[in-house]
Amino acid sequence: AFIEGLKDASSTEAWRECREFALANLHRFKRVDAAYVERISPKISNSITLSTLHGCPPEEIERIAAYLIHEKGLNTFVKCNPTLLGFDFARRTLDRLGFDYVQFDDHHFLDDLQYADALPMFRRLQALAARSGLDFGLKLSNTLPVDITKQELPGKEMYMSGRALYPLTLALARQLTADFAGQLRISFSGGADALNAEKLFYAGIWPITMATNLLKPGGYQRLRQIAEGLAANPYPEFYGIDGEALEALERQVLKDKHYLKAIKPMPRWQTDQKVPLLDCYTAPCESGCPIHQDIPAYIGLVGEGRFLEALQVITRQNPLPFITGTLCGYRCREKCTRNFYEEPVKIRQAKLLAATQAMDELLQSLDAAKAGTQAQRGKAAVVGGGPAGLAAAYFLRRDGFEVTIFEKAHRLGGMVSQVIPDFRIMPEAVEQDVRLIRAMGVQFELGKEITSLEELRQKGFQYFVLAVGAGVPSQLPLEKGSYIPATEFLRQFKQDPFSLDLGKNVVVVGGGNTAMDAARAAKQVLGVERVAVVYRRTRRYMPAEKEELHMALDEGVEFLELLSPIALEDGILECREMVLGPADADGRLCPVATKVMVQVPADTVVSALGEKADTGFYGRLGIALNEKGYPVVTTGGRTNLPQVYVIGDGLRGPASVVDAIADAAAAVKEISTAARDTSGIKTEEKPRLTAGPAKIPAQYRHPEEVIRGKKGRLALSSDTILESERCLECGAVCENCADVCPNRANVSIDIPDRPMRQILHMDRLCNSCGNCAVFCPYDSAPYKEKLTLFDSLEALGASENPGFCLLDRDQKRLALRLDGGVFECRLEAEGSPLPKDIAQFLDVILTRYQYLF
Ligand SMILES: Cc1cc2nc3c(=O)[nH]c(=O)nc-3n(C[C@H](O)[C@H](O)[C@H](O)COP(=O)(O)OP(=O)(O)OC[C@H]3O[C@@H](n4cnc5c(N)ncnc54)[C@H](O)[C@@H]3O)c2cc1C
Ligand code: SF4
Ligand code: SF4
Ligand code: SF4
Repeated sequence: AFIEGLKDASSTEAWRECREFALANLHRFKRVDAAYVERISPKISNSITLSTLHGCPPEEIERIAAYLIHEKGLNTFVKCNPTLLGFDFARRTLDRLGFDYVQFDDHHFLDDLQYADALPMFRRLQALAARSGLDFGLKLSNTLPVDITKQELPGKEMYMSGRALYPLTLALARQLTADFAGQLRISFSGGADALNAEKLFYAGIWPITMATNLLKPGGYQRLRQIAEGLAANPYPEFYGIDGEALEALERQVLKDKHYLKAIKPMPRWQTDQKVPLLDCYTAPCESGCPIHQDIPAYIGLVGEGRFLEALQVITRQNPLPFITGTLCGYRCREKCTRNFYEEPVKIRQAKLLAATQAMDELLQSLDAAKAGTQAQRGKAAVVGGGPAGLAAAYFLRRDGFEVTIFEKAHRLGGMVSQVIPDFRIMPEAVEQDVRLIRAMGVQFELGKEITSLEELRQKGFQYFVLAVGAGVPSQLPLEKGSYIPATEFLRQFKQDPFSLDLGKNVVVVGGGNTAMDAARAAKQVLGVERVAVVYRRTRRYMPAEKEELHMALDEGVEFLELLSPIALEDGILECREMVLGPADADGRLCPVATKVMVQVPADTVVSALGEKADTGFYGRLGIALNEKGYPVVTTGGRTNLPQVYVIGDGLRGPASVVDAIADAAAAVKEISTAARDTSGIKTEEKPRLTAGPAKIPAQYRHPEEVIRGKKGRLALSSDTILESERCLECGAVCENCADVCPNRANVSIDIPDRPMRQILHMDRLCNSCGNCAVFCPYDSAPYKEKLTLFDSLEALGASENPGFCLLDRDQKRLALRLDGGVFECRLEAEGSPLPKDIAQFLDVILTRYQYLF
């Protein structure tokens, strides 16, 4: 009866009820009148899809399909499993695409329908359908059962779907298309999205269905882009499936980074904070950035060509836009919501573009005279002119200090100008940032090594920022043979690459960015034929950035994983083979030694095992050190010596430029507070210098409808200036929890005169699937932590969510839980215990969102 009802629902109770309701409520619709309702066809479907379970016997599949064709007269599709491809093919394909960590064995492949049995069956069913003037086809494909290895879900197996299933589904479609000469109808489910749907459609594959992709940010809005693309063309007749087009698609998948699994796993997406009850929208990129740059604002300003304003926004927190714009470690990008679409926004490139376009103008806008004279807060010495020292000097000048940088080398920039190769960053980029620091009125003494603070004190300096880096290389414990520390090798390479003689075979030991730079540099040295990186774990665990790894691989550097060097003798590096054992506290699998030895040809070994701080320097100054040889500090890098602060790599070992800037900002905040306390100058009176941005633009954002228009649209990055069209401005509109909920249990509530919409959770619609917790940028589960509407007092009592249930609509009487206990209140009663904004939120729900009750 159910199937008959789908074929023609006109005599069903449900049809009658819906039709009558629609006709009686026409006034509630905007674009629906009685004629429209009358035109809705009761013939809901003339086709059906049979979903086959894993292990379903072939004869049973055939019997049911034959029944649907013959008895029910329906066009019939049978949903097939990717197991039809065979274990070896599926395993190989997933491995090639980087999904080698997805584990499954061959038992489903052996138990399920076999390809050789399937072909004759499909032929029989196709012939049966043709005799009745119907279509028979296949829906490709069902999910693939894989092992649960990290307790992702209860049980032993879960189902793989979405992007990873796309290449398997495509391969199955291509194989069946070849065997049926294109004459077998195929409908597609398995990772379709806006980047491939049209290609599948015009290859002759339809209908196309989507599920997993709709459960990601953007949700159902992802369908709009596909619909627009398809609607632009006439609906084609089915003449057959184009096998060549499928082959081309399959070839493209194997090299398209959209389908390849990232070389390294994404770090955790969420911030450490809990979601607030109200006004929760946040830009996750900003929380990922150690100096919390206002990223959406400068992306938007760059998009409008307002480069100076963009650079003003950037230099509020970041005085090194060229250096960071070129090689910042990019933690913002890892947090970007667009990772769930196709690729992150090109944040770093937008910063560099703003700096390149507007630095001259920014410098002209600096009030040089003011910068030169207005320094009433004290005299500060910065020891070390690397990124940390430069940033500290800038912030100190901005806060009104007289500042001198003492640098022992003859150029500024630290590791960036002395060690990092030119193919990563050119000296001109460092010089551009130095121009800004110089324009702020900072003094420099180059070629001046500081060995005691007394000398500086005698010159009148009151505040000391030690930014001396971590330049002492770690030891590589070789039983025989010698090695060159990577920083030393890179320093020589930068000065004069032609002076180096490394032999033919170079081995770089280590897995960080320095190892990648050393390996790529070694590749460029005359006479070198082979460069290999030797690492104790696998590349998935290497600390180097993904981009650096890719570049080294692209340039032909070999990766020898799971090897630990033991001795170098006669051009051979003897290494012990390792295996991955249990995870350490950070979740990284620990290498465990085996008895197997491996010989690697090596004329030169470069050790990139990291650098340490110069404990002797700190010791001579009297700075207390911890057991690792780093200064013991409190907030802002404050040491045991009065007014002496340590920042940058010298504080905790090799880190990054942006970490150095963050340290500098924190130290200067402390110094400014200390100076205010001693000078008696109030904060608001402090002579704050400006890096130009006397008129900092107001918070930049597009109108809300423009931001909403970007939701759900896939767009690969094409041009940095256009990145503002890709940036979703997450701090202005988030609603991920609403987008991704399969049950529409999170509702975004529009409150008049409030800039942000608020999230209301619907208790009765939620089945606790947890998907909203996966995509909320906070360390939170919206379905447990956002204000919740309950249907009854019992439901409110059975939950711990903050929320309410309606007791009396006319009186606006509610039972409410906010901070633990449940209490009753009337919304409009005088002396209501409710905070004003919560009361307003509840009132809007009661008056404007009645359909929710
Ligand atoms: C090969 C390599 C690649 C890297 N790649 C990246 C990257 O891609 N992205 C990124 O963000 N970071 C990268 N880093 C890390 C980054 O360079 C450092 O984190 C950053 O330079 C630290 O800045 P700093 O000012 O603390 O120290 P440093 O850059 O080491 O600067 C310290 C300065 O102090 C001076 N000095 C030391 N002692 C004295 C003294 N007694 N008196 C006067 N001057 C003194 C030194 O000469 C030096 O100029 C890389 C590092 C290396 C080695
Ligand atoms: S989409 Fe834009 S606002 Fe959102 S995380 Fe990415 S860069 Fe930031
Ligand atoms: S947990 Fe509840 S609210 Fe969250 S996505 Fe699942 S059903 Fe929706
Ligand atoms: S996912 Fe929902 S609860 Fe989390 S920040 Fe976005 S709108 Fe707020």
